[in-house]
Amino acid sequence: MITIKTPEEIEALKVAGDIVGQTHHYLEKYIKPGITTKELDELAEEFILSKGATPSFKGLYGFPGSVCISINEEVVHGIPGTRKLQEGDIVSIDIGACYNGYHGDSAWSYPVGKISPEKEYLLRHTEESLFKGLEMIKEGAHVGDIGYAVSNHAKKYQLGVVKELVGHGVGSSVHEEPDVPNYGKMNKGPLLKAGMVLAVEPMLNLGTPHVLMLEDEWTIITEDEKPSAHFEHTVLVEKDGYTILTKR
Ligand code: MG
Ligand code: MG
Repeated sequence: MITIKTPEEIEALKVAGDIVGQTHHYLEKYIKPGITTKELDELAEEFILSKGATPSFKGLYGFPGSVCISINEEVVHGIPGTRKLQEGDIVSIDIGACYNGYHGDSAWSYPVGKISPEKEYLLRHTEESLFKGLEMIKEGAHVGDIGYAVSNHAKKYQLGVVKELVGHGVGSSVHEEPDVPNYGKMNKGPLLKAGMVLAVEPMLNLGTPHVLMLEDEWTIITEDEKPSAHFEHTVLVEKDGYTILTKR
C-alpha cells in the first residue's frame, strides 16, 4: 500500500530529511585522501545522534555500518571499514536518519581531491538525471514518468542504468511502497498523489549497467569494474510539484 502522509507525519519526515541533508553537509569537509570509511561512518553517526535522530541503516536487514560508503566501482551498500580514500576516488555516501519514527534517505557521490574527466562526467550527469526524474513529480503523474526521465538522460550521455536497485516510498519504514525504478514508461506505474513521500535515486555507471554482489554479501559493484555514481533525495509529492526534504 502506498501511504498518504498526514500533516503530523510530514512534519517528522521534514525534520528527518533535514537531518540527513545536514549530515551530508557536515561530512563533506572530511572527504579527503587518507580518511577511512569507518571514520566517516563514525562522524556521520555522532552527528545524527547529536540531532536527536538515529541512523536508519544501522542494523537494517543486518547492515553493520551507520551509513553506506561505496568507492569507485562500488555502486551501493559498501560497508565502512579500514579502507582509506585516495586522491582520484569517487565516494558515494548513502545516509538515512530516523526522527520520531520517520525517515529521511539521501545518497550523494563526491570527488576525492582531483578526479579524472570521465569521473567528473559521470558525477555531473548522474546528478542531473536525479533532477530530471524529480521534475516529473506532481500529483497526477506516474512513477514510470520518473524512471523514463532518468533513463532518457542516462541514454543521452551513454551511461548504464542499474536496474536491480530502485528508489522507494519513505515513511515510518525507510523502504516502503512503491518501487521507484530508474527506468520506465510515461503514464505507467502507480499514480502519484499529494502527500506521498518518495526516494528517487539514480545509480548510473560509466560502463555496463550490470552489477554483481561481493562475497561480503552487501557491496554491489559494476560487472566491468568501471565507476558508478549515486544521487538520491527524499521528496514530498505536492499538487503542483514536489519538495525536497533532504536538501543539503
Ligand atoms: Mg539511500
Ligand atoms: Mg533509498
